[in-house]
Amino acid sequence: MADVAPAGGPSGKLVIRNIGLLLSGDLDRPILDADTIVAIDGRIHAIGKSKDVDQSNAKVTIDAKGCALSPGLIDSHVHPVFGDWTPRQNQLGWIDSFLNGGVTCMISAGEVHLPGRPKDIVGLKALAITAQRAFDAFRPGGVKVIAGAPVIEKGMTEEDFAELAKAGVKLLGEVGLGSVKAGDEAKRMVAWARKYGIQSTIHTGGPSVPGSGYIDKDVVLEADADVIGHINGGHTALPLDQIRCLCESCTRAIEIVHNGNELAGLTALRYAKELGQLHRVILGTDSPAGSGVQPLGILRMIALLSSLGDTPAEQAFCFATGNTAKIRQLDCGLIQEGKAADFVLMDKAQHSSGRDLLDSVRKGDLPGIGMVIIDGVVRIGRSRNTPPAERVPEIVH
Ligand SMILES: [Zn+2]
Repeated sequence: MADVAPAGGPSGKLVIRNIGLLLSGDLDRPILDADTIVAIDGRIHAIGKSKDVDQSNAKVTIDAKGCALSPGLIDSHVHPVFGDWTPRQNQLGWIDSFLNGGVTCMISAGEVHLPGRPKDIVGLKALAITAQRAFDAFRPGGVKVIAGAPVIEKGMTEEDFAELAKAGVKLLGEVGLGSVKAGDEAKRMVAWARKYGIQSTIHTGGPSVPGSGYIDKDVVLEADADVIGHINGGHTALPLDQIRCLCESCTRAIEIVHNGNELAGLTALRYAKELGQLHRVILGTDSPAGSGVQPLGILRMIALLSSLGDTPAEQAFCFATGNTAKIRQLDCGLIQEGKAADFVLMDKAQHSSGRDLLDSVRKGDLPGIGMVIIDGVVRIGRSRNTPPAERVPEIVH
């Protein structure tokens, strides 16, 4: 069940030992030579070999039983509304279900599914500030939902962006979902947002549902938002030559989503690889959406891009962790001292044909999750949604 879970706090000392594979989230060094992690009060304190790390006086000790540990997965593109309810599919508990898919943090691309969503400027600002406050204070299952992402409309002025930033808004909803669809107008507002420290994402491709619009490469390049939102369409993708142009003509983040065109997603990955710019690749689900919510969506993206995209699995995990954290300026997503103690423990699924976890993902299988930890607190044990893993971690005390 969803519950209120405060950020950080004095969760004490957590020791995780006997880690069989430590995935760092860092594309430059995706696997660490260590088997033990110590966290104190929700922050990573030490990473190393068992004999070199002080494991005394732990409040909680976990035997990973040889499972892999990765930073908690980050969904770079979701559309939450309020609490753990989505009106898009009238579903309860969807965020808690994502937690069971290894997602510990999600980024709102706009609270656009709110029935009767206000489109006047005062109303859209009020909604964004309310959503930011509400998700800051309420974390379903412990999942960090970074929300309060206004959908920009015609007539907004620089003062509106200054006011939003002052009120704590840090994101724009997808540019193009509101009345601002022209490149020059979007460019002006994105620049105002950036000036006040608000990060922006632009809708890319055909309309997602009746009422949203078509945004082609020229508008995306002119607007110059920080994130090329769902470069593989949501669902309808741009022609592949336009996707190539987006990858080649700018340095903004290349966001590939589950609820998009899979061929276009794999092609965008290939272009990023050819350019030597895999650090730009980040993953989202773009859910809830017309095709539903996908609790295992980020894991499915990792398996898709690794298997059909011919990418080592340890790199694919970085797309959904360290890459997103760096681009979104989050304090999680990397196994480094001082970062948030957000972890997923997993192993290859029972009866996978893969030799081990990485080989199973490379062969297109999803891993089995045995435990998820957020801010140094165990949130779930064996996932109710993934296939069962061969090995499952145990809380020793
Ligand atoms: Zn979109």
